[in-house]
Amino acid sequence: MSILRLAIPSPLRRHFDYLPPVGVTDAAIQALEPGTRLRVPFGRREVTGYLLEVCSSSDVAASALKAALEILDETSLIEPQLLSLCQWATRYYHHPPGEVFSALFPKRLREGKATRAAGEAGWQLSIRGKGLPGDALSRAPRQAEALQLLQDAALSATALKARGINSTTLRTLEDRGLVERCMLSEHSQTPRSLPGLSLTEEQAAAMNGIRAAGDNFCCHLLEGVTGSGKTEIYLQLITDGLAQGKQTLVLVPEIGLTPQTLTRFRERFEADIAVLHSSLTDAQRYTAWEAARSGSASIVIGTRSAVFTPLARPGLIIVDEEHDGSYKQQDGFRYSARDIAIKRGQIHGCPVILGSATPSLESLHNALTGRYQHHRLTQRAGSSKMPRMTPLDVRRQPLQGGLSGTLIEAIEDTLQNSQQVLLFLNRRGYAPTLQCHDCGWVAECPACDARLTIHRRRRQLRCHHCGSSAALPAHCPQCNSSQLEAQGLGTEQAEDFLRQRFSGHSIRRVDSDSMQGRDAMQELVAEINRGEPCILLGTQMLAKGHHFPAVSLVAIIDADALLFSADFRGEERMAQLLTQVAGRAGRADIPGRVLLQTHYPDHPAVIALTSSSYAEQAATLLDARHSLGLPPAGFLAVMRTDCPDAQFGEQFLHQVKQQVAPQLPQGVALIGPLPSPMQRRAGKYRCQLLLTAGRRRDAQHAAGLLVASAEALPARQGLKWSIDIDPQDVF
Ligand code: ADP
Ligand code: ZN
Ligand code: ZN
Repeated sequence: MSILRLAIPSPLRRHFDYLPPVGVTDAAIQALEPGTRLRVPFGRREVTGYLLEVCSSSDVAASALKAALEILDETSLIEPQLLSLCQWATRYYHHPPGEVFSALFPKRLREGKATRAAGEAGWQLSIRGKGLPGDALSRAPRQAEALQLLQDAALSATALKARGINSTTLRTLEDRGLVERCMLSEHSQTPRSLPGLSLTEEQAAAMNGIRAAGDNFCCHLLEGVTGSGKTEIYLQLITDGLAQGKQTLVLVPEIGLTPQTLTRFRERFEADIAVLHSSLTDAQRYTAWEAARSGSASIVIGTRSAVFTPLARPGLIIVDEEHDGSYKQQDGFRYSARDIAIKRGQIHGCPVILGSATPSLESLHNALTGRYQHHRLTQRAGSSKMPRMTPLDVRRQPLQGGLSGTLIEAIEDTLQNSQQVLLFLNRRGYAPTLQCHDCGWVAECPACDARLTIHRRRRQLRCHHCGSSAALPAHCPQCNSSQLEAQGLGTEQAEDFLRQRFSGHSIRRVDSDSMQGRDAMQELVAEINRGEPCILLGTQMLAKGHHFPAVSLVAIIDADALLFSADFRGEERMAQLLTQVAGRAGRADIPGRVLLQTHYPDHPAVIALTSSSYAEQAATLLDARHSLGLPPAGFLAVMRTDCPDAQFGEQFLHQVKQQVAPQLPQGVALIGPLPSPMQRRAGKYRCQLLLTAGRRRDAQHAAGLLVASAEALPARQGLKWSIDIDPQDVF
């Protein structure tokens, strides 16, 4: 007897067994490929399941098994390596298999619909249409014209429309049986690349090193300062791949997939490029997915979830800005796209390139211990020099809009020299706190343990944690005083000051409030790069992805805000962020400078930032991680709960800990349960149990114990729990 073992989209960490659909021969069942989609009954619903294997027996009695309803694919839509990757991810992240599979397929296929051949929908003449005499439709000139156009070849609806034939005409012809719909085969242009730049010595060395390592799996860390020409190396490696008929998968951070980046790829290659990111429609996403799967796209560029795109001829995987936090999914299936990319390269047997100006300590550690090949680009490719970072002691200095007198003068000088200024302030809104001067009341979010941010432009108080908002009050709700004061500094407030102080100049605020709309950033970048003197003021939106060649002064308005993070990655993130911000300056021929306003010029992190390179700082931080046994020297997992009841979560995690503690491998410790740093968020109380281990295998095993124990505990009203392997944030 054949049993179909399936992954079913459900929060359960298990597979489900089914009998074959009625009337399907055993030979057909035995021939099914893992990964094939099936329509099956599940509870009261019908869902799409994914075949894991065909087996000969089940733990469930045959009489209790339901039959699958329909086999949806003749062959699996995903390659066997991608299926293995999925199964690996299910085990590694202890995540329900059905949800992992759901991350693989676009909506259309998750809903059980049929695939559509790659290519564009079009129209062709039917047999009747071909047989029609030339003057048959003289009373309907549009229709006659359409038939005339379709005489030689099928055409896409777009092409027909361009010649004045609309869809009504085509449907009329279809109703009359004269034309029919068809798929236009890809015009499958042979991919071509335009010649690349001639490489600098450092670039050539890196390129040769990567080529010499061959076409099999090898992970390369390409560590190159901003502007050193990492992207040029990617482009030339892709050219190699195209020549061999291979596809390249390029992952970029969410914010890095800019029109600028895409233009650069499109200018270099005459090839079909599939682009996958979060703001596509379902149909666009499906088309890009199919182009990658069928192989008609030679280059696939996408953000985090693109790491799961099926590939017909994978040859190379590139992860740009590999340190970027957006590669880690923070809810649901909490995977790291960078780590999945490396595993995928291993399974496919193809090289993986991790590129960054500020590599993560994880990747540096792997490079230093010889697991990755390490290639360094220390010089900028063009003539420009790396900017220097200088601390600006603001103690006892009057600040206006957060700016010291010294900084204001520096801005003035820069504008007078017809150059641009970039000011970095990582806090949007007007001010982070609203307080009553008479009674001390502070505006807090009713659902979170957090203060509300003042957004003066919209006359609102908003919570940056749960998104709730309220009207900005005119009087204190506690004592009715009108002495309400804004405390602290946000981008809106700094903008107000700049507009008044530098009134003759263009001032652009760049944060997620001001950059609404898909093209906002593109338009801004185009405007800035016309080179007129101006002041750019913004959050980390400004720190990534965009090049501003005319910026010669960069200032970090409030470096102190980054100094005292409780998280063990705080200092690493600060070094990465500020190095990236600084990298925006001095890209062209104007030497840049970077000023860092701080009240703590003697703080070790400030000294490190202003006196040593990122590589040196990273080495120091790595030493500290080693002595503390923290990643990458150790391994972490976090089990979290969130629950409307303040006590349940902690009790639940206590029970898990008690059950698991006696079975823990040596070298594994459980810390907690403790309330999360912000205990209440969106009305739920959050709690966490931290697992630390010296070896990955032990961490894996222990995380499995935690999950098994949590699953076996009786469900508690409203309590949700999750496991996060290799978490980004712990505190
Ligand atoms: P990164 O990706 O490291 O920031 P890019 O590849 O974007 O660096 O290169 C930065 C700038 O230098 C770009 O304008 C690019 O065209 C130019 N560039 C890169 N490599 C070379 C080269 N070998 N010769 C001349 N210019 C180069
Ligand atoms: Zn008051
Ligand atoms: Zn809130």
